[in-house]
Amino acid sequence: MPNNNEGRQQLPAPERPSNKGIAESIRPTAFEEWRAIPGYVGVYEVSDLGRIRSLDRTMVSAIGHATRRTGQLISPARDSKGHLVVSLYGRDHTKRSARVHRLVLSAFVGPCPPGREALHRNSRAEDNRLTNLRWGTRVDLGRLTVQNGRHPVARRAHCAHGHHYSAENTRIVQRSNGRTVRVCRACQTIRGTRPQR
Ligand SMILES: [Zn+2]
Repeated sequence: MPNNNEGRQQLPAPERPSNKGIAESIRPTAFEEWRAIPGYVGVYEVSDLGRIRSLDRTMVSAIGHATRRTGQLISPARDSKGHLVVSLYGRDHTKRSARVHRLVLSAFVGPCPPGREALHRNSRAEDNRLTNLRWGTRVDLGRLTVQNGRHPVARRAHCAHGHHYSAENTRIVQRSNGRTVRVCRACQTIRGTRPQR
């Protein structure tokens, strides 16, 4: 895709991230790659650390008034699921709410393939570093959620028979309905079978 605004460049003095938590732990590195947000070339950029910034630009109002705007880092808000969202204002005076993880993937990987969604490899919705993101299926999402211990049931430490769900004692199994479950190896051994469901 055409992209005139990408490129690695030295960071200016880092501004303090406004979101506590993960944002605090993701310090800008010496190099941070910025790319234009598709549909907003020359207006907004997204970085491989999941930060959003506007660029110096001239916005022309519907009645022809030109206003000079200075670029700045955009502080994302948090939606009900914990995802970071920003409001983007287009040159055509539209306003759109966009989730940061989708912006990162769109700019650095490409458009979302049909039937896919943006996934966080560590299941932390606020961690929008490119290395933590990929387009994946709903099945992939379920697997990650269980693997990362974020599933409500998967957080239990022991099976129904009291065996500890250690890494060695746990199998991650994909069911035909797409759900991902943990299976206790100790229980399998006792039964002498691999469960059919
Ligand atoms: Zn068990």
